[in-house]
Amino acid sequence: MPSFASDVKNALSRTDAERDCCRTAELAALLRMGASMATDGEHGLGLRFEAASAAVARRVIRLLRTMDTTIETSVAMERTPQLRRRTYIVNIAAGEGVTPLLTRLGFLTRGEAPRAGTDVQLLRRKCCRAAYLRGAFLGGGSVNRPEASCHLEITTKSAVMGRALHTLLRRLHFPVGLTDRRDTYVVYLKEGDAVMDFLALIGAEEAAEEIEVARNLKEVRAQVNRLVNVETANLQRAVDAAADQLAAIERLAAAAGGLAALPEDLRETAEMRRAHPEISMTELAALCHISKSGMSHRLRKIRRMAEEV
Ligand SMILES: [Zn+2]
Repeated sequence: MPSFASDVKNALSRTDAERDCCRTAELAALLRMGASMATDGEHGLGLRFEAASAAVARRVIRLLRTMDTTIETSVAMERTPQLRRRTYIVNIAAGEGVTPLLTRLGFLTRGEAPRAGTDVQLLRRKCCRAAYLRGAFLGGGSVNRPEASCHLEITTKSAVMGRALHTLLRRLHFPVGLTDRRDTYVVYLKEGDAVMDFLALIGAEEAAEEIEVARNLKEVRAQVNRLVNVETANLQRAVDAAADQLAAIERLAAAAGGLAALPEDLRETAEMRRAHPEISMTELAALCHISKSGMSHRLRKIRRMAEEV
């Protein structure tokens, strides 16, 4: 069964990035999440991008093609035997177009050494920040299914990328956390509102809605449970109290003179309780035509007398 996260990614990979600037930002983030450069002495730089799903690999190819039609790409599928997981490799052959492309994507500065810095240039515009985050999520994101607790994370092997994403999300006022688990940097959101806002921002509105619906349902369920618990507790208390009263009444009935020896009001109460062991004190009070506090007073007296027997 495909996970919720892969459903979200599939939906995202079909969205249209309308502007050129956004396509560049998204592709840059995607590549930073899973690309390595391959140098080919004769032809210059090529690129190898590893994607965990076919949808993500297709997205990379589609973005590349719209940016530069001369770029040659090929795809291969590899299977890790231990994990039985498929990895899709997008290879970008070394060629003339690659260096300008990498420069545009912020991987190279003026054709020099690969750059490890952040993508400040690419993140100037608001629209591009959302696109960049979409790329990062497609490349290394994961989100819990709506019924589970709210958690969204983006993992990367690159400390620089981890920090860049953390900074970007903080600047966008997300309550974001960053941890590292053995060479893997994890940027995460834990609050439901933040997870929904993030998904909506990157263009996964439907997923955000699904989470919202599931959250409302959870809240309603919790409320119903609370009510049931309160009712059950009240009922249990009433049953326990009635059992105590009945035990006291039986002791008095077994004593010398029995219930007939009791004052009139207490005898009436004792007999009424014996006849209706299941009813609440309020109902008992109504049957005896007295107030609830009057009934409480009578029952306390009965208990005290029983203790003295
Ligand atoms: Zn843009």
